[in-house]
Amino acid sequence: MEKSKLYKLAFKICPPIALIFSILVTITTLYINEGLSPLFIFISIQVYLNWFAIYTISQGETTARRQTRDESDSDSVAITIAQESPANVKYWYCDKCQNYTYKPTQHCVVCNKCFHYRDHHCFFIGGCIIQQNMGNFILICFHTSLACLYSLVVIGPYLYENLRDILEQDPSVVNVIINFCFPIAIARLFIFGKTSYLLLITLFDTLFSVWIVCLVYGAWKLFNCYTGRQRYYPHS
Ligand SMILES: [Zn+2]
Ligand SMILES: [Zn+2]
Repeated sequence: MEKSKLYKLAFKICPPIALIFSILVTITTLYINEGLSPLFIFISIQVYLNWFAIYTISQGETTARRQTRDESDSDSVAITIAQESPANVKYWYCDKCQNYTYKPTQHCVVCNKCFHYRDHHCFFIGGCIIQQNMGNFILICFHTSLACLYSLVVIGPYLYENLRDILEQDPSVVNVIINFCFPIAIARLFIFGKTSYLLLITLFDTLFSVWIVCLVYGAWKLFNCYTGRQRYYPHS
């Protein structure tokens, strides 16, 4: 019970953290960039619009329960579904929603409702990824990776300039990469007492990870949808 509460709490906390982080990155990039870049603003707006679209589609998703909310008797709900749908469509009873719903359907414990053709619940967006918002999800992955790449290109040279005194001793590529890594920055802080842009290095490394993950995951989902391999839960 405690474990599931913690799980739900983590899912509730992640979207605001992602939102604050994205705003922080946008402000930092624009600050270092010394001006408003139309390209970066366009990409950022695309990210937030797709985020909004995914969230509202997920929230507004209607299941059998919502369509037949007025029906008080659950048996009549089942009859209604059976009459409205083709004979081969199967329906099942969801204990958590306490109502009948179509297959293929899966219950999301975080959203607390059933979804048709559900893929997964997204930590960062705060909604379920289903068949209807899969396109927006692929778009947000690509736009996020583009925004990350833009920020990396802006923050990277700025960091390099400011770490010049360390990097000039050994200007090899390996040394530059090592000094851009978070563990090295932390070690430098503890051993030499040099803060050396620790926050900016953390931001840089996080952005690098997000860039790779979003690009690979978005490309993988696009490939799956394009080739018809995208499966929705439950996989039966
Ligand atoms: Zn349910
Ligand atoms: Zn969900």
